Amino acid sequence: TIALLTGASGFIAGHVLKILLEKGYTVRATVRSTSKADYLKTLYPADAKLSFAIVEDIAAPNAFDEAVKGVDVIVHTASPFHFKITDPVKDLLDPAIKGTTSILQAAKNFAPQVKRIVITSSFAALIDASKGDWPEHTYSEADWNPVTWEEAIGNNPSTNYRASKTFAEKAAWDFLEKEKPNFTITTINPPLVWGPMVHDVTPETVNTSNANIWTLVNGSQASVPPAHVPAWVDVRNVAEAHVNALETSKAENQRYFIVAGKFTYKEISDIVLKNFPELNGKVPTEGAISTKKVYDVDNSKSKADLGIQYISLEQSVIDLTKQLVNWVK
Ligand code: NDP
Repeated sequence: TIALLTGASGFIAGHVLKILLEKGYTVRATVRSTSKADYLKTLYPADAKLSFAIVEDIAAPNAFDEAVKGVDVIVHTASPFHFKITDPVKDLLDPAIKGTTSILQAAKNFAPQVKRIVITSSFAALIDASKGDWPEHTYSEADWNPVTWEEAIGNNPSTNYRASKTFAEKAAWDFLEKEKPNFTITTINPPLVWGPMVHDVTPETVNTSNANIWTLVNGSQASVPPAHVPAWVDVRNVAEAHVNALETSKAENQRYFIVAGKFTYKEISDIVLKNFPELNGKVPTEGAISTKKVYDVDNSKSKADLGIQYISLEQSVIDLTKQLVNWVK
């Protein structure tokens, strides 16, 4: 089976790529530059069934028309996840939304053999910010972020990002309904994703979600921060969900909330200090111990359909911190 994987230089995609190759897929990976392709090649044996297509900007018209040719399945992860934005439309909304519709259109036009497309969406497409802590609610695949376009283009970077994921996912479901393509889609909707990094990244290039743990352990915070989004999942489970979704018919035209559970940064700082005593003095221990109740999360559908066995917070934090301690040194 030939799989097209977009955004292969990313944190989550790095793990998806690893699993696809381990499972025997032939992978065509898209990255933005030949230097990124050259680097990724060094992570795998020379005879790995891995090739690359350069897609500099997923928002560009017809970005994927060449990359899709000849593939059997598609995993679309590429989408900007950062808050360094000057123009929410150009920096976040366009690449998220146009990137999604353009890969679907390319598959329909140039790869009629494609039957399955898995798209990385987000808890951002489920959460309703206006409801706040919403203690009586349990988030699941049934929820949709009601963000409006007016809010999407406003000056709140967190809303800009969440809207980019919401409108991108909506665009995918709309495409399916209007265009009636040969393929089905599955969306993977994780909250904050943590865990070990496959790629050799640095404190400057660490992805947005792992940066939350990095800043907790590197001595830059005086007190334990509050968790604005108190739900998390390990990157290995997220990657596994993408690949399992390609392989089970149960996942056809389904969304999956891939969530291990809830957390507080106090729990994480306790795990870090218990397992990495050398970080004593750097990791904050005081503050943000809140007893207020927040919404619950339901991962039962992902367990039932995709067979996900969730990695514990302790394991995830330990495995990531093993890499982060080298940066502290
Ligand atoms: P990364 O920043 O590590 O990965 C993002 C990937 O998208 C990179 O490969 C990046 O390429 C690529 N990309 C972004 N914008 C463009 C563009 N305009 N043109 C081409 N490529 C682009 O983050 P993650 O791995 O965390 O994110 C992957 C996906 O997971 C995203 O869709 C994100 O929204 C989603 N997600 C992430 C969560 C998290 O907590 N990490 C939670 C929920 C969803 P390059 O590196 O070259 O810029």
